[in-house]
Amino acid sequence: MAKRILVTGGAGFLGSHLCQRLVAKGNDVVCLDNLFTGRRENIDRLLDEHAFQFIRHDICDPIVLEVDEIYHLACPASPIHYQRNPVRTIRTCVQGTLHALELAREVGARVLIASTSEIYGDPLTHPQQEAYWGNVNPIGPRACYDEGKRCAEALAVSYARQYDVQVRIARIFNTYGPRMHENDGRVVSNFVVQCLRSRPITIFGQGQQTRSFCYVDDLIDGFIRLMASGVSDPVNLGNPAEFTILQLAQMVRGMTGSSSQLLYEQLPEDDPVRRKPDITRAVEQLGWHPEIKLEQGLEKTIADFRRRIQHET
Ligand code: NAD
Ligand code: UDP
Repeated sequence: MAKRILVTGGAGFLGSHLCQRLVAKGNDVVCLDNLFTGRRENIDRLLDEHAFQFIRHDICDPIVLEVDEIYHLACPASPIHYQRNPVRTIRTCVQGTLHALELAREVGARVLIASTSEIYGDPLTHPQQEAYWGNVNPIGPRACYDEGKRCAEALAVSYARQYDVQVRIARIFNTYGPRMHENDGRVVSNFVVQCLRSRPITIFGQGQQTRSFCYVDDLIDGFIRLMASGVSDPVNLGNPAEFTILQLAQMVRGMTGSSSQLLYEQLPEDDPVRRKPDITRAVEQLGWHPEIKLEQGLEKTIADFRRRIQHET
């Protein structure tokens, strides 16, 4: 049966893909966004659909809507954006999540919280399992986001315990794909844009730090399975294939046919050294695992950026 579903942060990178998938599955979707890092053009094609509605609203202000499910994604995700106004980031993580949970409680909706691998901080175990409590610097430059998201998880489990709200917690690992903002500073978008514009590829530190990159379509599939499941514990969603940042740079350079040089810059403070999800829980309890290999996903991502850059000129 079709549901009425709220997606906060629905005009952002992940949110817009999620809205598109939910509408395609026959649901009525309300997309709420204050357009801080999101863009109207991400949801342009959905605006003509009867089943889609856009509300410009800041989730730090309360809202009441009759919905069956809430995907709560509203929050800047890239370090340059979440560090620009750290107080606002904390407010969005804490007050915004409080409002999403309060709405869920009021209307009896199930709510999925977009958490992050950042709650593990610079992890001391590898790969990261959900049982790991993390190694987060509570006063560093990433604290506004990391601790904000940890508080969002604490709020979610507290609403579940105290008020029986049905919560789902997705711990998302680095996800990439078409529609990433070209200036959002994340590594995949930076490298692709730098290669396509024949600019130097900025490697922070020696590029030996690792990340595991999940293609957006796989992640959205994981979101939808998690929401439909009975799993109220946090679930890691990500692609366990691990790459150094240098390997990623070389791959993007090769695939774009670029001759951009590598430019080594200072490693940002508290930049996690290694990151790779243990996805046993998602595999066993959701029957989910990512299908798209990095090279395939990069191909689609590069094609999207190429189109956008050509469009500009
Ligand atoms: P994004 O910046 O593209 O999207 C975030 C959206 O939230 C934007 O549209 C922005 O305008 C909106 N927003 C921000 N503050 C808001 C507020 N106060 N009220 C209403 N809307 C607000 O980032 P994304 O990559 O799509 O991330 C979406 C969610 O997933 C975030 O919660 C992020 O923390 C989480 N996440 C993403 C990744 C990833 O690799 N993409 C990894 C871990 C976690
Ligand atoms: N990074 C890099 N060059 C860039 C952008 C990022 O070397 O132009 C590195 C960054 O230091 C980090 C990794 O790539 O080690 C992933 O960075 P991103 O900001 O995408 O995500 P996060 O650090 O939140 O995982």
